[in-house]
Amino acid sequence: MIRKFGELVVFSLLAMLLVVVPVASSVADTSAASYHWARKKSHFTLQVGDNLSGDWNSYLRRGLADWNKNGTVTLDKVGGQTSPQKCNPTTGRVEVCNWLYGTQEGWLGLTQLYFNKQGDHIDAATLQLNDSYFDSSSQYNNDAARRHTMCHELGHTMGLDHVDTNSCMNNSQYAVFHYVQPTRKDFRQIQKIYNHKDKETTVSSASVTSEGFAASTSLPSAPNEGATDETVTVQKLDDGRTVVTFITWAKD
Ligand SMILES: [Zn+2]
Ligand SMILES: [Zn+2]
Repeated sequence: MIRKFGELVVFSLLAMLLVVVPVASSVADTSAASYHWARKKSHFTLQVGDNLSGDWNSYLRRGLADWNKNGTVTLDKVGGQTSPQKCNPTTGRVEVCNWLYGTQEGWLGLTQLYFNKQGDHIDAATLQLNDSYFDSSSQYNNDAARRHTMCHELGHTMGLDHVDTNSCMNNSQYAVFHYVQPTRKDFRQIQKIYNHKDKETTVSSASVTSEGFAASTSLPSAPNEGATDETVTVQKLDDGRTVVTFITWAKD
């Protein structure tokens, strides 16, 4: 494999529409360890909208079953509310999508966390799986890579960051083909993240949810060199809201 990916610097067209800023300085309350949904009790249900086609439905079911052993967050599969191609966010929930998003962007899986106006809690998330890699002659067209990516990106939607254990939250290239499930340590981390009670809630509880809102305008494309397998960017939307994007790059 050729390692041709590196740290990301996003300027170009995006500069017109949004500002990419370092995580630490811009959104103090959304540092990696504290990305989370607001809710008034520790145990809560997070709706996961299914906009998937084909085999991905069974990967989602399996991913949800694996994560739902955690005891803190219950991921509940509900009907999707967006088009898989656009994968727009819906307030209060996660939308999961697959599509032939193309190889020019270079990403395999992508999770975006949309923060509330105050910037302290997630209030929508999208998870995208790029069939341009999974449904091709690439190395990712196999069961392990699909399971890993679904599991990994679902973990991000709950606020989890990367680990170096044998969990699917490991973001190494080796992990993509070998670590397909969460671990107990991940479950303890979720418990820790949601141990406090918030005064508000950003999680939708109704089965009919509010309308979606404008998605982030465009995505950064693959960096040219270096060795990172994943990039995290923080963007500000026109309305001042923050979007954190976890990008899992594919490799040739
Ligand atoms: Zn909170
Ligand atoms: Zn990741």
